[in-house]
Amino acid sequence: MNLHEFQGKELLASYGVTIQRGVVAETLEEAVSGFEKLQSETGTKFAVVKAQIHAGGRGKGGGVKLAKNKEELKEHAGNILGMMLKTPQTPGGINGPGKLVRKILIAEDVYAPDFDACEEIYISILMDREMKKNVIIYSTEGGMDIEEVAEHTPHLVHKEYVDPTLGLMPFQTRKIAFNLGLSGVAFKGMTKFVSNLYKAFVGSDASLFEINPCLKAGDDSIIAVDCKVSLDENALFRHPDLAAQRDESEEDATEVEAKSYGLNFVNLDGNVGCMVNGAGLAMATMDIIKLSGGSPANFLDVGGTADAARVEQAFRIILRDENVKAILINIFGGIVRCDRVAQGVVDAYKNIGNISVPIIVRLQGTNADIAKTIIDESGLEVHSAIQLQEAADLVEKLVG
Ligand code: GDP
Ligand code: MN
Repeated sequence: MNLHEFQGKELLASYGVTIQRGVVAETLEEAVSGFEKLQSETGTKFAVVKAQIHAGGRGKGGGVKLAKNKEELKEHAGNILGMMLKTPQTPGGINGPGKLVRKILIAEDVYAPDFDACEEIYISILMDREMKKNVIIYSTEGGMDIEEVAEHTPHLVHKEYVDPTLGLMPFQTRKIAFNLGLSGVAFKGMTKFVSNLYKAFVGSDASLFEINPCLKAGDDSIIAVDCKVSLDENALFRHPDLAAQRDESEEDATEVEAKSYGLNFVNLDGNVGCMVNGAGLAMATMDIIKLSGGSPANFLDVGGTADAARVEQAFRIILRDENVKAILINIFGGIVRCDRVAQGVVDAYKNIGNISVPIIVRLQGTNADIAKTIIDESGLEVHSAIQLQEAADLVEKLVG
């Protein structure tokens, strides 16, 4: 689950990480009053208006603008609120439809006091699965695409691995500050910044923190100017306060709906819809679709109880995708009996009506033979198979 920048910054601040302060606004009035509040509380003269969407690269798309007075603030807030912001990271990239901006952050201008003395630093924390350790990635080349920096000047990207049993050690925070070329107050500030950032990462069960830029300001203070936070979904039950910050309007609408029915669903861009029980079998099914000349339109694990109601919801969700040319249902009947699933498929098919794409059903396990009979005798355009290869051959014949 991803957080908005303003939510991520709140989380960091609760762990003592210094952030660029700001006020969230959903209307022009809130933006203006937020600006005045920010000025009186922080002493900032200028403010940055920042679109709050779950995508980076907002600056490039016109979603981050500096306002030097109330008029400029109104102008930028008016333009950004409600815009369809296109960035390299929104769906379809800069040529896609963009994402609707519902909220903006009015943030203090932390560069203004001494712009020329500011340095933009890059810091992220994530888990390196191969090393089985968290890693802090950092660079003096902040404020730009880290992918570009890594490609053209890899020696400027540093990594610090953290032993999970020891945690982040003081010598490591000093090494980071040293490699970033800092000294004096900024050096000390950075060791504290990284140490608190790491505590926040572990404490919130995050899977990614990315602070780009992290600013060394003119007065040598270290400030999180931007903040991307992804949290581990499997640990969210330990953080009800963070779970409550989920913004479903930022997520794929179909995926959100599928979740409400207990389906594990991920939208993909292929032409064969799949309905499978178990994540492992779902992966194998997607491979088989690829091998037989098709391409999966989705990942869908209906879970342990593939009953008629679930099968019907899954059908409806898959059929919404116009690219789908066929649906492959691959269910292994262990506890769930194949004949029940087969009856569920037939019932759902009849309930939905006018299904125009062919359905291939492969049921294996308890009562698979009875299931095949039910489907073959239903009179519907449903092709049944017991062996996975038979199902794959059918996919190839129908869409390959
Ligand atoms: P992103 O484009 O989505 O990564 O959004 P960021 O939060 O990183 O902002 C983009 C850029 O806006 C930063 O790299 C900065 O150069 C600039 N920016 C952000 N905050 C300030 C600020 O307080 N003052 C000034 N002058 N520029 C800022
Ligand atoms: Mn950024």
